[in-house]
Amino acid sequence: MQAECRRGAGQAVPFSDFPGYEQVTQVFRRIVSRGTYHPAYLFHGPSQMGKRRLAAAFASAIFCREVEGDFCGHCSACRRMTSGTFPDYRLIKQEGAFIKIEHTREMIGEAAIQPHEAPKKVFVLDPADRMRIEAANSLLKVLEEPFPFSIFILITSSPHAILPTIESRCQKIRFSPLPYETVAAQLMEAHALEPSAAETLARLCGGRPGLAEELAKGDFLAERDKVIEVLASVGADGELEVFRVSHQVRGSRDAAQRFFQLLIPVLRDALLLRQGGDPKGLLNQDRQEEVRSATKKFTPEELLAAWQDATECSWNLLQNASAPTQIERVLLQLCPVEKARAR
Ligand SMILES: [Zn+2]
Repeated sequence: MQAECRRGAGQAVPFSDFPGYEQVTQVFRRIVSRGTYHPAYLFHGPSQMGKRRLAAAFASAIFCREVEGDFCGHCSACRRMTSGTFPDYRLIKQEGAFIKIEHTREMIGEAAIQPHEAPKKVFVLDPADRMRIEAANSLLKVLEEPFPFSIFILITSSPHAILPTIESRCQKIRFSPLPYETVAAQLMEAHALEPSAAETLARLCGGRPGLAEELAKGDFLAERDKVIEVLASVGADGELEVFRVSHQVRGSRDAAQRFFQLLIPVLRDALLLRQGGDPKGLLNQDRQEEVRSATKKFTPEELLAAWQDATECSWNLLQNASAPTQIERVLLQLCPVEKARAR
């Protein structure tokens, strides 16, 4: 495996960089200080919780030569974890809709060989539910007769899609959404956000720090306001607006994903308002009136269908679906012309 990206460059950080995950990091510290490992760990929970970064931090804690059970940042192992050149760590990612079978084969071949210098080799599969059945069966064979010096970390937001025979051989580590205040405090420190912007973003992300980090890279408040405007325009004028948005995301699944990440909480809030829910539960608390006004033309059933479709289409994008098609599928059903046609 030559690709640097598969070594997890730049992902290594100390456990103190994961506020809110103290319980999980405490478990990792204990595991490392005891030096007894499971052959495999299953990190499961909603997507974009920071599971991959924590896998790198766990591996760094195993490799570090200066601090027991953590990442020191300056020993030769930590420095190479940061630069993505540590030889006993591998990150195996999905390419296209699946993890490539040859990458799984290479991984298993490498796992059978003694580590270069660390006490253990660590292989991270993300997302582990995107292994083809043949690859999953090969991994299962390894877990049935594990190599004493290799550890696998399987990351998934769909644990039901992992072979039960693999799942039962893993120590499971569950990742739950963090309190909004914890994520907001983290955002204020890392991105110098104003408290109100940090709290809004933490809510929009449903307490998922990985997603918050992702959205914090752009002007998410302005983008969120654009999404609300799009809904208002779709309700009023319809198809032209939909095709304008789908044209904008042409060729960029990331742009479409970002659109869905902001659209899903808006649709959820619109539904909550329409059903007379408590406004304290809104994710876009600072835009209550705007959300209400932009979505007043839609029935609760239409909002529910669009919300469910948006969630599904966001997942489809991860499986390499076409960005414009997914946008059109969600938004066209809200257009007056389309609704008239469906009747
Ligand atoms: Zn170190």
